[in-house]
Amino acid sequence: KRNLCRAHAPLLYSALTQWHVPVHVSRQLCPLFQIQHMPLGRSVQGAMNYARFLTAVSAARKPSAIRMLTELQLRSPPSLISLAGGAPNPNTFPFQSCSIQVKNGDTLMFDETMMKRALQYSASSGIPELLSWMKTLQKDLHNPPTANYTAENGQMDMCVTTGSQEGLSKVFEMLVNPGDNVLIDAPTYSGTLAALQPLGCNLVSVPSDQYGMIPKGLKEVLSRWDPADVHKPHSTIPRVLYTIPNGGNPTGASMTAQRKWEVYELARQYDLLIIEDDPYYFLQFDKPWAPTFLSMDVDGRIIRTDSFSKILSSGLRIGFVTGPKPLVDRVVLHIQASTMHTSTFTQLMVSQLLHRWGQQGFLNHIDEVIEFYRTQRDAMLSSADKWLKDVAEWHSPAAGMFLWMKLKGITDSQQLIMEKALEKEVLLVPGGVFMINSSDPCPYVRAAFSLSTPQQIDEAFKRLSALIKGAL
Ligand code: PMP
Repeated sequence: KRNLCRAHAPLLYSALTQWHVPVHVSRQLCPLFQIQHMPLGRSVQGAMNYARFLTAVSAARKPSAIRMLTELQLRSPPSLISLAGGAPNPNTFPFQSCSIQVKNGDTLMFDETMMKRALQYSASSGIPELLSWMKTLQKDLHNPPTANYTAENGQMDMCVTTGSQEGLSKVFEMLVNPGDNVLIDAPTYSGTLAALQPLGCNLVSVPSDQYGMIPKGLKEVLSRWDPADVHKPHSTIPRVLYTIPNGGNPTGASMTAQRKWEVYELARQYDLLIIEDDPYYFLQFDKPWAPTFLSMDVDGRIIRTDSFSKILSSGLRIGFVTGPKPLVDRVVLHIQASTMHTSTFTQLMVSQLLHRWGQQGFLNHIDEVIEFYRTQRDAMLSSADKWLKDVAEWHSPAAGMFLWMKLKGITDSQQLIMEKALEKEVLLVPGGVFMINSSDPCPYVRAAFSLSTPQQIDEAFKRLSALIKGAL
């Protein structure tokens, strides 16, 4: 208390939580650590009533008897003679074996036995070896206070999804009724809007800036309701908050730990579930990475979606949902009734690679990916400085693959991009695509620094500058 310098306290706190050292800060010392509330150690586990959050569609889902038998069979010894399940005989399939070369020189082998498994149906929650590898990673990275992935009645669980998009759309269908108020930090990912808007909900925009959702703004939005009404039958209080905490798509914004604590506290006050859509978690350029909502979740009110799209492959379609077991179970029931499971082949391919690499090898790979995107981001920032200084404004993104720019003097980027950009041979996404009301005029554009070379980025910004100046 006496020796801690004011400037060092927040750094120390952030480092300790990053290393999962349990930190208890008394209320009097919170200002010194630049934290206002400490949810740690005040767990109300078991207090959540998940039935309150489920839509009628989700509540009506029942386990498929055939799927349960298939999964039972998958876990049984080979001596079991099963005339149950309706799986086809893989001996009739035309594929025999394959080997996949990894860039580091390794080979992933799919011999005949492995190939038969890869081509067959598998568990709706994901293949066990991939799930258990991910559960360990999740625990090691986030150390969720309610984590107990193993016991049958454990508080948390995970499932594999066909990209995080599948997880998100199923989570939305599970939680969002027509007419519901849903909190969202817009502008936001167009794929989220595409999944949410047809559900007929009312998207309530929460103000955000380059550090993501603004807790004060959320508090103000929530002040329309009285938290005492949360459990009243026809209350219109939102039950769900959606956010992209790192490298926001399209804004590139990343939330600080302090903001997450504050948002989490408000979620507790209003009994909200938070959907933490974090596909750019592994693309954070600076370490230590900020603690996630999952790492703060003493109540079991976080549903987290992760993705391997940006770090292993987008085409393999591997994502994950992590959250309270009763809710993950509902997502799995929906998977049973739709895709049945994510491709066994791609799960086995990824799982073989991860087991070969081990966790450290995986994290080393992530470091290389981060280095690539950091260099790309820096190249884009320097080209932006060179060409766009007087015609646009932006913030440097701390994660992800997007630069979000406000065009000065342009009221609607849609018109500019759609009508003139192709003529100048440059293409960006007009900001309106990410707005709740996409027809409102919007001066922003999103530029991705993922695919183009620094030379192409430079040329593109030169063309964009000419385009804007021409329009002005
Ligand atoms: N959430 C966000 C914020 C995204 O940007 C994306 C991909 N663009 C997704 C989810 C979906 O990613 P995937 O399904 O490939 O995991």
